[in-house]
Amino acid sequence: MTTPDGFFIRTDGPIPTINLERVGSLGRERQIVIDIFNSSISPFLEAEGLPGNRYSVSRWDIAQDNQSLTTRVVMTLSPDSPDWEVTPTSVGSQSGIVIVPPSGVSISSIPDEPLSTNPAIAVPPGSQQPPQAQIPQPQIPPQPQTPRVPPQVNNSRILVAIDPGHGGRDPGAVGIGGLQEKNVVFPVSTRVAQLLREAGVDVVMTRVDDRTLDLEPRGNIANNANATIFLSIHANAISLSRPDVNGVETYYYSENGRQLASIIHANVQPASGLGNRGVKQARFYVLRNTAMPAALLELGFLTGSEDIVRLRDPAWQERMAQAITQGLLQYLEPYRR
Ligand SMILES: [Zn+2]
Repeated sequence: MTTPDGFFIRTDGPIPTINLERVGSLGRERQIVIDIFNSSISPFLEAEGLPGNRYSVSRWDIAQDNQSLTTRVVMTLSPDSPDWEVTPTSVGSQSGIVIVPPSGVSISSIPDEPLSTNPAIAVPPGSQQPPQAQIPQPQIPPQPQTPRVPPQVNNSRILVAIDPGHGGRDPGAVGIGGLQEKNVVFPVSTRVAQLLREAGVDVVMTRVDDRTLDLEPRGNIANNANATIFLSIHANAISLSRPDVNGVETYYYSENGRQLASIIHANVQPASGLGNRGVKQARFYVLRNTAMPAALLELGFLTGSEDIVRLRDPAWQERMAQAITQGLLQYLEPYRR
C-alpha cells in the first residue's frame, strides 16, 4: 500500500527477516532488491498492483520463490529518487516492511495520495491467478542477453552440466526434522555425475563441494564449458504447516528445455514413488541464463510428510540418481549414435 510517506508491504507471521541489496548508484536509474525470508505474500499481490510512478519508483517486481520460501521485491528507481530506507516492523498484530525516504529528505513536493484505511497489501481487483514462482533479477547495469542458440552437438563431445542447488552458507530449504536441501541434492548430483561418467559421458559440475555459489556463476560455468545440456537438482519446500503438499516436479523455461524436462520427469517421477506434480514452465534464473536445453528438478518436498521419508533415505537417493541418469542418457540418445 502507499502511505503519505512511502510504502508498506504487509507480510504474514512475525517481523520478517530481510536482506537488502542496492544496485546502481545515486543519480542513475537503480534498484533496491529486498529479499524477505520465510515469508508469504498474498497470492493475489502482483507487481502490477503496486503503485508505479509514485515517489520516483518507476517499477515494482515481486515474486515468491517456493523453494527457499523467500519473497523478492525489486524497486526500480528513477535517477532523481532518494535512497530508500527499508525496515521490517510490526504494528499491532500486523507485520511488514516499511519503505520510506531517508530521514531529512523531503518528499513534500511529491503528489500525495489519500492514506488507505485498508491495511492489506495491494490487491488488484479481479485477480485470480497467483503469480508464477519467479524471482525478478536486478537488471542494472543491463546485461547482454544470453543468446539462445540450438545446441551444437556432435558425436565426439557431449557434456552434461549438473548443478547441485544451494550449498555452503545457503542450505536451501530446511524441512521436517531440520533436513537441509543441500544435503539431499549434493549426494544425488555427485552420484549422477559418477554414473554419467561410467556411461562415457563427460560432466561438468557447478560445484564439487559444500560451497556457497551464486546463481550467476552456475549459468556461466555451463555456458563457458559449452555444455550440451544443463540440469539443476533441488528439493522442494512450501511450509512446515503444509505436510500435505508432496510430489516431484520438473521445470523448464525455454522451449528447447521442455523435452529435456519431460524426459527427466518421465524417468524420475515413477521411480520416486512420490506424487506427480508435472512438468512446468518457470522463470528460474539458471534456466533463463543457460544457453543450452536446461531443466530444474524438484525431487520432492522436504516439508511433505510423505516425501521426507524418502528424501532422507540414502537408498532412495541412489535410485533417484539412477533414474536421473537414465533420463539424461535417454535425452542424449539421438546425439550419441
Ligand atoms: Zn532449491
